[in-house]
Amino acid sequence: MTTPESASQGNEAQLSLDNPVTRHPKISPPKQDQPEPGLDAKLEPTADHGETSYVGTGRLKGRKALITGGDSGIGAAVAIAFAREGADVAIAYLPAEAEDAAKIISLIEAEGRVGIGLPGDLLDEDYRNSLADMVAEKLGGLDILVNNAGKQIAIEKLEDLSDKQVMETFQINILAMYTITRAALKHLPDGASIINTTSVQAYDPSPTLLDYASTKAAINAFTKGLAVQLAPRGIRVNGVAPGPIWTPLQVSDGQPKDKLPTFGHNVPLGRAGQPVELAPAYVFLASAESSYVVGETLNVNGGKSTP
Ligand code: NAD
Ligand code: MG
Repeated sequence: MTTPESASQGNEAQLSLDNPVTRHPKISPPKQDQPEPGLDAKLEPTADHGETSYVGTGRLKGRKALITGGDSGIGAAVAIAFAREGADVAIAYLPAEAEDAAKIISLIEAEGRVGIGLPGDLLDEDYRNSLADMVAEKLGGLDILVNNAGKQIAIEKLEDLSDKQVMETFQINILAMYTITRAALKHLPDGASIINTTSVQAYDPSPTLLDYASTKAAINAFTKGLAVQLAPRGIRVNGVAPGPIWTPLQVSDGQPKDKLPTFGHNVPLGRAGQPVELAPAYVFLASAESSYVVGETLNVNGGKSTP
């Protein structure tokens, strides 16, 4: 028999399941270092990309997606979710990330979808220019572009921040978006969706991430302007702005090493986010459910305030 007391206990159990503070563990990662690019396979503790939890509902049935940086972190979670929503997915990544990419491609294929790996370096102009054509040829089209690859190297003092680093960060994070998106436009049909990964750093820059934060502010402006330009063609452009998310970017000098044990503890939810927590935002913006959402930045940041 259900007494008022047991009913309220049931409710509490239900509530704690969905409590965003405890839904994922509060992690205190040990100090660790990986050369750039970091590998998800070596990340400690491991990150959650939704491998065992993301459940699709057919929202991207028959769609064809390109996700840059789809081998690990946020891009990997998006790749898994897109496949479970019914899309064929091509992922772009650096050749050194083949191990991470193979895992994600096999998860895409496990859904009965086509999974394609396109290794290459976004610093290489020919690669940037040819990505969209390769996807359109191999998948028979392209209607979702997720510009997500990124470089983040923390440097304490401006005197130590080289022009080489600044130029590479701009090239990979924002200039590549121009090239890849321009080349994709000839393939993107009405109803296609472009989603750019920006960051809370666009409005709340860390003193150690001057170059990175500047690219993210530029991505916001690119996203909003392009959204207005392409809306009449029936192509929607939006952004997702993550807060602190546990990914290999953070251990390959994305954070000062002494900050790793408290990574993400300073947001209102009190913990770092997991890549899987980003996937629904990308699915929403890619799917027709968001047909009236244009030029929006969806913040997924644990509660940090935004403009
Ligand atoms: P990640 O390391 O898993 O992904 C970044 C990917 O960028 C790499 O996997 C790599 O494939 C790609 N990349 C980097 N340099 C490249 C190059 N020269 N050529 C080709 N590809 C290259 O880390 P992530 O955190 O999932 O990053 C994904 C995006 O999310 C990035 O744009 C990052 O700026 C953004 N972001 C991350 C956080 C966070 O806290 N992790 C917060 C805000 C925004
Ligand atoms: Mg990677």
